[in-house]
Amino acid sequence: MQRTKVKELLAGAEEGKEVLLKGWVRTKRGNKYVTFIAVNDGSTIHNLQVVAEADKFSEEALKDVTTGAAVAITGELVASQGKGQAFEVQATRIEVLGKADPETYPLQKKAHSLEFLREIAHLRFRTNTFGAVFRVRNTLAFAVHKFFNEKGFVYMHTPIVTASDAEGAGEMFRVTTLDPINPPRNEDGSVNYAEDFFGKATNLTVSGQLEGELAAMAFSDIYTFGPTFRAENSNTTRHLAEFWMIEPEMAFYDLQMNADLAEEFIKYIIRYALENNRDDIAFLGQRLEEEDKSKPQQDRQEMSLLEKLEFVVNNDFERVTYTEAIEILVNSNHYKKKKFQYEVSWGVDLQSEHERYLVEKHFKKPVIVTDYPKDIKAFYMRLNDDGKTVAAMDILAPGIGEIVGGSQREERLEILVERMKGVGIHEEDLWWYLDTRRFGGCPHAGFGLGFERMVQFVTGMGNIRDVIPFPRTPQNAEF
Ligand code: ATP
Ligand code: MN
Repeated sequence: MQRTKVKELLAGAEEGKEVLLKGWVRTKRGNKYVTFIAVNDGSTIHNLQVVAEADKFSEEALKDVTTGAAVAITGELVASQGKGQAFEVQATRIEVLGKADPETYPLQKKAHSLEFLREIAHLRFRTNTFGAVFRVRNTLAFAVHKFFNEKGFVYMHTPIVTASDAEGAGEMFRVTTLDPINPPRNEDGSVNYAEDFFGKATNLTVSGQLEGELAAMAFSDIYTFGPTFRAENSNTTRHLAEFWMIEPEMAFYDLQMNADLAEEFIKYIIRYALENNRDDIAFLGQRLEEEDKSKPQQDRQEMSLLEKLEFVVNNDFERVTYTEAIEILVNSNHYKKKKFQYEVSWGVDLQSEHERYLVEKHFKKPVIVTDYPKDIKAFYMRLNDDGKTVAAMDILAPGIGEIVGGSQREERLEILVERMKGVGIHEEDLWWYLDTRRFGGCPHAGFGLGFERMVQFVTGMGNIRDVIPFPRTPQNAEF
């Protein structure tokens, strides 16, 4: 007999038929006449209720049917008498495929803290919260490909091991096969990477953008979606050492078109999740409301999760220049009352407290900030005519801060070379990148969206460690 997933059973298509269901026991309760077993198989947030009558199943027969056990159950799918579910299964056969010793199984009925669940990340998929989070994550990933595919973008797999540092920031993980204790050395004592596996120093990529640009110069529109690594020692709720990034790159796009695409993209994938994971998002929304009750009034959310997402999908993002953003900040009461920890003046990078003030207090919606001072942005961003700013854009989201970083790229060879010099990048190291400016270069633009920050936004999860299956952060690479 073929097994049917819980999601389909709950939709009722097989009412009155004998069905086979497989999954994991969430709870078992009952009395001396009947036992109710809630089974979940990950296909939906909802459990299927299995009814085992005492005249068919002795206590002994059900002794291994405990929370966490894997079971296969045969029975008739019937309309439920009880509240809370439309259908249930009247069991005729119950087989325990894998026991879960109640004495040692770490997931019990009571609610566990997210911190505790992080320590048992190998089991946390089996909770309602993480079930919902990772189903939403899956849907968003699918929507990313769907969006770009519908627009005719080519999915490009850029390398994970590279010899270039796209940002020039130096927060990279080295990749090497050299003996760490006794590496080959140059005469001056430095490590001789010519003898390393690739014949030069290599690292895990911090961005696929530079390679993405090469492909855009042939396919017009491409995107990457892959793992990205940053050895930044920042223990925040928004940074991982290994995260997934989506980086579209478009030939013949300027900054405006770039911003339009990013906004359309974000709305599209949120809408897709709202359509396909409503129950999961509703559950996560309730979770947030519970969490909110323990917070002081001023820290509570003004909108529910569903309302917030609907709002984002149905309203235009605000667009301001960096210069305007600084003016808003400097003129705010918050600034006058000296509530910002970090300095605000033209030329400084916006700190997360400033970004959050703009989106959460001032505009109360996602904001696209453009035209940043050139000195705080990467060398490849296109220099504006004022000579002071570059055609950069960051998208800031409520509760998260920066979710997208992008720009129109510098397509003019001389200016690009000049800017590389300024930040100490050698022309020889990026000869292939510069070639695209020599041979058929054109105006182009692109951006990077941090996938986990997007998942945080849609699920409302406060800590980025809770939206990736096995987080990699400083001092932590368990599982
Ligand atoms: P931040 O200032 O928040 O560190 P960034 O300026 O370093 O971000 P970019 O280099 O522009 O970010 O990267 C593009 C996107 O990748 C960011 O907008 C963000 O969504 C995401 N991102 C960057 N660093 C991380 C990280 N360590 N963990 C998770 N996502 C990240
Ligand atoms: Mn960063």
